[in-house]
Amino acid sequence: MIDIKTVGVVGAGQMGSGIAQVCALGGYDVMLHDVSQERIEQGIAHIERYMTRQVARDLIKPAAMEAAMTRIKPATELQSIGGSDLVIEAATENEDTKKTIFKALSPHLAAKTILASNTSSISITRLASVTDRPGRFIGLHFMNPVPAMKLVEIIRGIATEAETYEVAVQFAQSLGKTTSNAEDFPAFIVNRVLVPMINEAIYTLYEGVGTVEAIDTALKLGANHPMGPLELGDFIGLDTVLSIMNVLHEGLADSKYRPCPLLVKYVEAGWLGRKSGRGFYDYRGEKPVPTR
Ligand code: NAD
Repeated sequence: MIDIKTVGVVGAGQMGSGIAQVCALGGYDVMLHDVSQERIEQGIAHIERYMTRQVARDLIKPAAMEAAMTRIKPATELQSIGGSDLVIEAATENEDTKKTIFKALSPHLAAKTILASNTSSISITRLASVTDRPGRFIGLHFMNPVPAMKLVEIIRGIATEAETYEVAVQFAQSLGKTTSNAEDFPAFIVNRVLVPMINEAIYTLYEGVGTVEAIDTALKLGANHPMGPLELGDFIGLDTVLSIMNVLHEGLADSKYRPCPLLVKYVEAGWLGRKSGRGFYDYRGEKPVPTR
Protein backbone atom coordinates (compact mmCIF):
# COMPACT_ATOMS: atom_id res chain seq x y z
CA MET A 1 0.00 0.00 0.00
CA ILE A 2 1.26 3.50 -0.80
CA ASP A 3 3.02 5.21 2.06
CA ILE A 4 2.03 8.89 2.28
CA LYS A 5 4.91 11.22 3.12
CA THR A 6 4.21 14.33 1.09
CA VAL A 7 0.92 16.20 0.79
CA GLY A 8 0.02 18.94 -1.69
CA VAL A 9 -2.82 21.24 -0.63
CA VAL A 10 -4.69 23.39 -3.16
CA GLY A 11 -6.39 26.42 -1.60
CA ALA A 12 -4.90 28.27 1.35
CA GLY A 13 -8.18 29.62 2.76
CA GLN A 14 -9.81 28.62 6.07
CA MET A 15 -9.84 24.91 5.23
CA GLY A 16 -6.68 24.54 3.15
CA SER A 17 -4.56 26.28 5.78
CA GLY A 18 -6.11 24.12 8.53
CA ILE A 19 -5.44 20.95 6.53
CA ALA A 20 -1.84 22.04 5.84
CA GLN A 21 -1.41 22.70 9.57
CA VAL A 22 -2.64 19.31 10.80
CA CYS A 23 -0.66 17.50 8.10
CA ALA A 24 2.56 19.34 9.04
CA LEU A 25 1.97 18.67 12.75
CA GLY A 26 1.37 15.04 11.80
CA GLY A 27 4.86 14.84 10.29
CA TYR A 28 3.97 15.16 6.59
CA ASP A 29 5.85 17.48 4.23
CA VAL A 30 3.32 19.92 2.84
CA MET A 31 3.25 22.10 -0.28
CA LEU A 32 0.56 24.78 -0.16
CA HIS A 33 -0.84 26.30 -3.34
CA ASP A 34 -3.33 29.11 -4.02
CA VAL A 35 -4.02 31.56 -6.85
CA SER A 36 -1.35 34.04 -5.72
CA GLN A 37 1.77 34.30 -3.61
CA GLU A 38 -0.16 36.74 -1.38
CA ARG A 39 -2.96 34.23 -0.67
CA ILE A 40 -0.40 31.53 0.16
CA GLU A 41 1.40 33.91 2.53
CA GLN A 42 -1.90 34.81 4.20
CA GLY A 43 -2.59 31.10 4.67
CA ILE A 44 0.84 30.47 6.19
CA ALA A 45 0.46 33.54 8.46
CA HIS A 46 -2.92 32.15 9.60
CA ILE A 47 -1.31 28.79 10.42
CA GLU A 48 1.41 30.52 12.42
CA ARG A 49 -1.13 32.56 14.43
CA TYR A 50 -3.25 29.46 15.12
CA MET A 51 -0.29 27.38 16.29
CA THR A 52 1.02 30.26 18.43
CA ARG A 53 -2.33 30.17 20.27
CA GLN A 54 -2.07 26.36 20.56
CA VAL A 55 1.40 26.73 22.11
CA ALA A 56 0.13 29.42 24.53
CA ARG A 57 -2.63 27.03 25.64
CA ASP A 58 -0.10 24.18 25.96
CA LEU A 59 -1.91 22.12 23.33
CA ILE A 60 1.29 21.69 21.32
CA LYS A 61 4.97 22.11 22.18
CA PRO A 62 7.00 25.03 20.75
CA ALA A 63 9.36 22.51 19.09
CA ALA A 64 6.42 20.80 17.37
CA MET A 65 5.23 24.15 16.04
CA GLU A 66 8.70 25.03 14.79
CA ALA A 67 9.09 21.66 13.06
CA ALA A 68 5.63 21.94 11.50
CA MET A 69 6.32 25.45 10.15
CA THR A 70 9.48 24.23 8.42
CA ARG A 71 7.53 21.37 6.79
CA ILE A 72 5.13 23.76 5.02
CA LYS A 73 6.42 25.11 1.72
CA PRO A 74 4.66 27.61 -0.54
CA ALA A 75 3.93 26.39 -4.08
CA THR A 76 3.09 29.23 -6.45
CA GLU A 77 2.86 26.85 -9.45
CA LEU A 78 0.08 24.27 -9.31
CA GLN A 79 2.11 21.69 -11.24
CA SER A 80 4.87 21.72 -8.63
CA ILE A 81 2.63 19.82 -6.20
CA GLY A 82 1.89 17.07 -8.74
CA GLY A 83 4.62 14.79 -7.40
CA SER A 84 3.09 14.65 -3.90
CA ASP A 85 1.88 11.28 -2.60
CA LEU A 86 -1.49 12.86 -1.82
CA VAL A 87 -3.05 16.04 -3.17
CA ILE A 88 -5.95 17.52 -1.19
CA GLU A 89 -7.99 20.13 -3.02
CA ALA A 90 -9.59 22.71 -0.71
CA ALA A 91 -10.37 25.54 -3.13
CA THR A 92 -13.61 27.55 -3.30
CA GLU A 93 -16.82 25.45 -3.32
CA ASN A 94 -17.50 25.76 -7.05
CA GLU A 95 -17.63 22.76 -9.36
CA ASP A 96 -16.04 24.50 -12.35
CA THR A 97 -13.18 25.84 -10.21
CA LYS A 98 -12.47 22.38 -8.81
CA LYS A 99 -12.69 20.67 -12.22
CA THR A 100 -10.31 23.25 -13.74
CA ILE A 101 -7.81 22.55 -10.95
CA PHE A 102 -7.99 18.76 -11.35
CA LYS A 103 -7.75 18.97 -15.15
CA ALA A 104 -4.72 21.27 -14.94
CA LEU A 105 -3.07 19.04 -12.37
CA SER A 106 -3.62 15.68 -14.10
CA PRO A 107 -0.71 15.81 -16.61
CA HIS A 108 1.72 16.65 -13.79
CA LEU A 109 0.82 13.88 -11.36
CA ALA A 110 3.11 11.05 -10.33
CA ALA A 111 1.68 7.59 -11.05
CA LYS A 112 1.30 6.88 -7.31
CA THR A 113 -0.47 10.16 -6.40
CA ILE A 114 -3.85 9.92 -4.75
CA LEU A 115 -6.23 12.83 -5.32
CA ALA A 116 -8.70 14.01 -2.70
CA SER A 117 -11.26 16.80 -2.56
CA ASN A 118 -12.39 18.52 0.62
CA THR A 119 -15.64 19.54 -1.07
CA SER A 120 -18.60 20.01 1.26
CA SER A 121 -21.21 18.89 -1.23
CA ILE A 122 -20.09 18.30 -4.83
CA SER A 123 -20.18 14.83 -6.37
CA ILE A 124 -16.86 13.01 -5.93
CA THR A 125 -17.71 10.85 -8.95
CA ARG A 126 -18.12 13.92 -11.18
CA LEU A 127 -14.91 15.56 -9.93
CA ALA A 128 -13.00 12.28 -10.36
CA SER A 129 -14.27 11.90 -13.92
CA VAL A 130 -12.23 14.87 -15.18
CA THR A 131 -8.97 13.36 -13.89
CA ASP A 132 -6.80 10.60 -15.34
CA ARG A 133 -7.38 8.47 -12.18
CA PRO A 134 -10.95 8.10 -10.89
CA GLY A 135 -9.83 4.95 -9.05
CA ARG A 136 -7.32 6.96 -7.02
CA PHE A 137 -9.74 9.79 -6.21
CA ILE A 138 -11.66 10.19 -2.93
CA GLY A 139 -13.55 12.72 -0.81
CA LEU A 140 -11.72 13.69 2.38
CA HIS A 141 -14.11 16.12 4.06
CA PHE A 142 -12.43 17.84 7.01
CA MET A 143 -14.48 19.99 9.38
CA ASN A 144 -13.91 23.62 10.34
CA PRO A 145 -11.71 24.48 12.26
CA VAL A 146 -9.61 21.55 11.07
CA PRO A 147 -7.19 21.37 14.03
CA ALA A 148 -10.05 21.29 16.56
CA MET A 149 -12.66 19.11 14.86
CA LYS A 150 -12.33 15.36 15.22
CA LEU A 151 -14.26 14.18 12.17
CA VAL A 152 -13.20 13.48 8.61
CA GLU A 153 -16.06 12.32 6.41
CA ILE A 154 -14.82 9.88 3.76
CA ILE A 155 -16.66 9.70 0.46
CA ARG A 156 -15.96 7.09 -2.20
CA GLY A 157 -16.88 7.92 -5.78
CA ILE A 158 -18.29 5.18 -7.96
CA ALA A 159 -14.80 4.33 -9.28
CA THR A 160 -12.78 4.76 -6.04
CA GLU A 161 -10.60 1.68 -5.50
CA ALA A 162 -10.45 -0.19 -2.19
CA GLU A 163 -6.75 0.66 -1.72
CA THR A 164 -7.43 4.39 -2.13
CA TYR A 165 -10.11 4.14 0.54
CA GLU A 166 -7.81 2.25 2.94
CA VAL A 167 -4.99 4.77 2.45
CA ALA A 168 -7.43 7.65 3.03
CA VAL A 169 -8.77 6.15 6.27
CA GLN A 170 -5.25 5.43 7.57
CA PHE A 171 -4.13 8.92 6.62
CA ALA A 172 -7.05 10.61 8.44
CA GLN A 173 -6.45 8.41 11.50
CA SER A 174 -2.73 9.29 11.47
CA LEU A 175 -3.84 12.92 12.00
CA GLY A 176 -5.78 11.86 15.09
CA LYS A 177 -9.14 12.09 13.32
CA THR A 178 -12.14 9.77 13.43
CA THR A 179 -13.66 8.87 10.09
CA SER A 180 -17.25 8.40 9.06
CA ASN A 181 -18.25 6.98 5.67
CA ALA A 182 -20.78 8.72 3.50
CA GLU A 183 -22.06 7.66 0.11
CA ASP A 184 -21.57 10.02 -2.81
CA PHE A 185 -24.89 11.88 -2.75
CA PRO A 186 -25.28 15.68 -2.60
CA ALA A 187 -23.69 17.18 0.54
CA PHE A 188 -22.98 13.69 1.99
CA ILE A 189 -24.04 13.34 5.68
CA VAL A 190 -22.93 16.32 7.76
CA ASN A 191 -23.98 19.07 5.37
CA ARG A 192 -27.13 17.27 4.19
CA VAL A 193 -28.41 17.73 7.73
CA LEU A 194 -26.59 20.85 8.93
CA VAL A 195 -26.86 23.27 6.01
CA PRO A 196 -30.65 23.02 5.45
CA MET A 197 -30.97 23.85 9.16
CA ILE A 198 -28.86 27.00 8.65
CA ASN A 199 -30.94 27.85 5.55
CA GLU A 200 -34.13 27.38 7.61
CA ALA A 201 -32.75 29.73 10.28
CA ILE A 202 -32.19 32.32 7.52
CA TYR A 203 -35.83 31.83 6.37
CA THR A 204 -36.89 32.34 9.99
CA LEU A 205 -35.04 35.66 9.94
CA TYR A 206 -36.34 36.54 6.43
CA GLU A 207 -39.95 35.94 7.46
CA GLY A 208 -39.52 38.05 10.59
CA VAL A 209 -40.14 35.23 13.05
CA GLY A 210 -37.13 36.38 15.05
CA THR A 211 -34.10 38.65 15.00
CA VAL A 212 -30.55 37.37 14.47
CA GLU A 213 -30.00 37.46 18.21
CA ALA A 214 -33.32 35.76 19.06
CA ILE A 215 -32.73 32.93 16.56
CA ASP A 216 -29.17 32.21 17.71
CA THR A 217 -30.07 32.44 21.40
CA ALA A 218 -33.08 30.16 20.85
CA LEU A 219 -31.02 27.41 19.24
CA LYS A 220 -28.07 27.74 21.63
CA LEU A 221 -30.14 27.59 24.79
CA GLY A 222 -33.16 25.72 23.44
CA ALA A 223 -31.41 22.98 21.50
CA ASN A 224 -28.04 23.07 23.28
CA HIS A 225 -26.13 23.95 20.11
CA PRO A 226 -22.67 25.41 20.86
CA MET A 227 -23.18 28.05 18.14
CA GLY A 228 -26.40 29.58 16.83
CA PRO A 229 -27.21 28.67 13.20
CA LEU A 230 -26.62 32.21 11.86
CA GLU A 231 -23.34 32.49 13.73
CA LEU A 232 -22.43 29.07 12.31
CA GLY A 233 -23.36 30.16 8.77
CA ASP A 234 -21.02 33.15 9.16
CA PHE A 235 -18.32 30.84 10.48
CA ILE A 236 -18.60 28.42 7.53
CA GLY A 237 -18.82 31.25 4.97
CA LEU A 238 -22.17 32.26 3.44
CA ASP A 239 -20.85 31.68 -0.12
CA THR A 240 -20.11 28.08 0.89
CA VAL A 241 -23.54 27.71 2.55
CA LEU A 242 -25.26 29.00 -0.62
CA SER A 243 -23.19 26.77 -2.83
CA ILE A 244 -24.11 23.70 -0.74
CA MET A 245 -27.84 24.61 -0.87
CA ASN A 246 -27.59 24.94 -4.66
CA VAL A 247 -25.94 21.52 -4.92
CA LEU A 248 -28.71 20.00 -2.75
CA HIS A 249 -31.45 21.78 -4.70
CA GLU A 250 -30.11 20.79 -8.11
CA GLY A 251 -28.88 17.34 -7.11
CA LEU A 252 -31.99 16.18 -5.27
CA ALA A 253 -34.52 18.19 -7.31
CA ASP A 254 -36.61 18.86 -4.22
CA SER A 255 -37.95 22.37 -3.52
CA LYS A 256 -37.40 21.89 0.21
CA TYR A 257 -33.72 22.66 -0.48
CA ARG A 258 -34.30 26.03 -2.18
CA PRO A 259 -31.81 28.62 -0.87
CA CYS A 260 -33.37 31.47 1.08
CA PRO A 261 -33.42 34.73 -0.98
CA LEU A 262 -31.92 36.54 2.00
CA LEU A 263 -28.90 34.19 1.91
CA VAL A 264 -28.51 34.98 -1.81
CA LYS A 265 -28.68 38.71 -1.01
CA TYR A 266 -25.93 38.51 1.61
CA VAL A 267 -23.66 36.66 -0.81
CA GLU A 268 -24.42 39.16 -3.59
CA ALA A 269 -23.39 41.94 -1.20
CA GLY A 270 -20.09 40.19 -0.50
CA TRP A 271 -21.18 39.79 3.14
CA LEU A 272 -19.78 36.28 3.43
CA GLY A 273 -19.46 36.05 7.21
CA ARG A 274 -16.35 36.08 9.35
CA LYS A 275 -13.89 35.73 6.50
CA SER A 276 -15.07 38.97 4.86
CA GLY A 277 -15.70 40.84 8.14
CA ARG A 278 -19.50 40.93 7.82
CA GLY A 279 -22.39 38.51 7.47
CA PHE A 280 -25.34 38.06 9.84
CA TYR A 281 -22.98 39.75 12.30
CA ASP A 282 -20.51 42.58 11.76
CA TYR A 283 -17.08 41.44 13.00
CA ARG A 284 -15.17 44.63 12.36
CA GLY A 285 -15.52 46.02 15.88
CA GLU A 286 -14.57 44.55 19.23
CA LYS A 287 -17.67 42.39 19.51
CA PRO A 288 -19.84 40.87 16.76
CA VAL A 289 -22.93 43.03 16.19
CA PRO A 290 -26.05 41.63 14.41
CA THR A 291 -26.57 43.17 10.97
CA ARG A 292 -30.38 42.75 11.17
P1 NAD B 1 -12.15 30.00 1.58
O1 NAD B 1 -12.94 30.98 0.80
O2 NAD B 1 -11.67 30.35 2.94
O3 NAD B 1 -10.85 29.53 0.75
C1 NAD B 1 -10.90 29.11 -0.57
C2 NAD B 1 -9.50 29.34 -1.17
O4 NAD B 1 -9.45 28.73 -2.46
C3 NAD B 1 -9.17 30.84 -1.36
O5 NAD B 1 -7.95 31.16 -0.73
C4 NAD B 1 -9.09 30.97 -2.88
O6 NAD B 1 -8.13 31.93 -3.31
C5 NAD B 1 -8.67 29.55 -3.27
N1 NAD B 1 -8.88 29.27 -4.68
C6 NAD B 1 -9.93 29.61 -5.46
N2 NAD B 1 -9.72 29.19 -6.72
C7 NAD B 1 -8.52 28.56 -6.73
C8 NAD B 1 -7.73 27.95 -7.76
N3 NAD B 1 -8.16 27.88 -9.01
N4 NAD B 1 -6.54 27.42 -7.42
C9 NAD B 1 -6.10 27.49 -6.14
N5 NAD B 1 -6.79 28.07 -5.13
C10 NAD B 1 -7.98 28.60 -5.43
O7 NAD B 1 -13.04 28.67 1.61
P2 NAD B 1 -12.95 27.44 2.65
O8 NAD B 1 -13.93 27.65 3.73
O9 NAD B 1 -11.51 27.19 2.97
O10 NAD B 1 -13.51 26.26 1.73
C11 NAD B 1 -12.68 25.51 0.87
C12 NAD B 1 -13.30 24.17 0.58
O11 NAD B 1 -13.50 23.47 1.80
C13 NAD B 1 -14.66 24.25 -0.11
O12 NAD B 1 -14.80 23.17 -0.99
C14 NAD B 1 -15.61 24.10 1.06
O13 NAD B 1 -16.87 23.62 0.69
C15 NAD B 1 -14.86 23.10 1.91
N6 NAD B 1 -15.23 23.08 3.33
C16 NAD B 1 -15.51 24.24 3.98
C17 NAD B 1 -15.87 24.19 5.33
C18 NAD B 1 -16.19 25.46 6.08
O14 NAD B 1 -16.76 25.38 7.17
N7 NAD B 1 -15.84 26.62 5.59
C19 NAD B 1 -15.91 22.97 6.01
C20 NAD B 1 -15.58 21.80 5.31
C21 NAD B 1 -15.25 21.87 3.96
